[in-house]
Amino acid sequence: ADAFNGAVAGAKALNAFIIETPDHAIAAAEAADRARAAGELLPLSGVPLGIKDLFCTAGYQTTAASRMLGGFTPTYESTVTAKLFAAGAGMLGKLNLDQFAMGSSNETSAFGNVVSPWRRNDGGNAALAPGGSSGGSSSAIAARIVPAATGTDTGGSIRQPAAFTGIAGIKPTYGRCSRFGIVAFASSLDQAGAMAQDVRDSAILLEAMSGFDPKDSTSLDVAVPQWEANLSSDLKGKKVGIPKEYRVDNMPPEIDALWKQGIEWLRDAGAEIVDVSLPHTRYALPTYYIIAPAEASSNLARYDGVRYGLRDLPEGANLQEMYAATRAAGFGPEVKRRILIGTYVLSAGFYDAYYTKAQKVRALIARDFEEAFRQVDVLLTPTAPSAAFALGEKSADPLEMYLNDVFTVPASLAGVPAMSVPAGLDGQGLPLGLQIIGRPLDEQGVLNAGLAIE
Ligand code: GLN
Repeated sequence: ADAFNGAVAGAKALNAFIIETPDHAIAAAEAADRARAAGELLPLSGVPLGIKDLFCTAGYQTTAASRMLGGFTPTYESTVTAKLFAAGAGMLGKLNLDQFAMGSSNETSAFGNVVSPWRRNDGGNAALAPGGSSGGSSSAIAARIVPAATGTDTGGSIRQPAAFTGIAGIKPTYGRCSRFGIVAFASSLDQAGAMAQDVRDSAILLEAMSGFDPKDSTSLDVAVPQWEANLSSDLKGKKVGIPKEYRVDNMPPEIDALWKQGIEWLRDAGAEIVDVSLPHTRYALPTYYIIAPAEASSNLARYDGVRYGLRDLPEGANLQEMYAATRAAGFGPEVKRRILIGTYVLSAGFYDAYYTKAQKVRALIARDFEEAFRQVDVLLTPTAPSAAFALGEKSADPLEMYLNDVFTVPASLAGVPAMSVPAGLDGQGLPLGLQIIGRPLDEQGVLNAGLAIE
């Protein structure tokens, strides 16, 4: 009992959950018992999932880790969680995240940062970031509190936390999973995806989450393949591209070495390795950090103190003053920064110079991938330019934080599927991930290459 209590206390210290919902998980477990007795088990019968608290869950508070949504309990279910529950899964709790999914370390949450269960083996005990924004998901899976969890990825929020915590995470093709009922950050980039301990579990979860939804106008009306049944690490006849632009300055030699090791693993699995070029990669970060805040500033205009969550109505305030007081109290500093940047790049005098230009560069980045996928089936890169950093190490400098997204944002801008798989440990014993990027709708190719690596 002591050990168990210790483990529970340890789990709580990670701060991965915003709320725990054992009633929901228990109901699913009981339904699974009945289904088993009747011989009618579903693909996820009884599986207790963590749900990133960006997914609206009917009857359970949904916060996006922001004070702004304090007291908001959705009356409807997001399509993704509805599909998971229809497949038999239960919800063990709503998982912490960066506020409105803006961040790379889970330090922007109004509910406090999440802690990674990993420690460096240097004898120090620095608490490490679990990555972000799906940091509650990565931490809870890495600590074995849940077998799998939902994530969302706008510029890397599934892949980078997966890499930091030694788990697998896949962002499918834009439009594979419905965005209905997911709190919007940057609608042209937001995509739900699966996080789990390994590639196979990710495939099972993604299969249950995906599918056309008439309630999301960008949802793709295509069938969901049987990814798990078709998993194969035999890559004979496949070509893997190595994009030379992903070799950046200051990258730890261990990450470069792991990348080379990954190339060897894929070669051993039968793949042919080809050098490719994605010439506009260097513009991906600035492009992302114009488009994402622009869309965020527009999406977040709905939080006015009237319709959702928080209302701050100072004595005698008029409507404008209520808006201002509510937004000042409700949004955290990173969210305010994004709204300011987004409003600036969309403003009359600067729209063409920033927003229109960024859209043009986005098209060039997408074209780079199209060109590359004429030569190869998938691309292999590191997931992030570093292993997990310490909490507080980058939070004072937003640019420093944004740079950590350098390898994940290009696939988001192009809308193509991408996955991080656990590939090894660095010299301090911390996990490192490798990223596989695939053609639109070729999640199978991504998962299969992932399987050959893990
Ligand atoms: N770190 C990136 C950002 O802060 C990506 C976040 C995400 O994918 N939700 O915008």
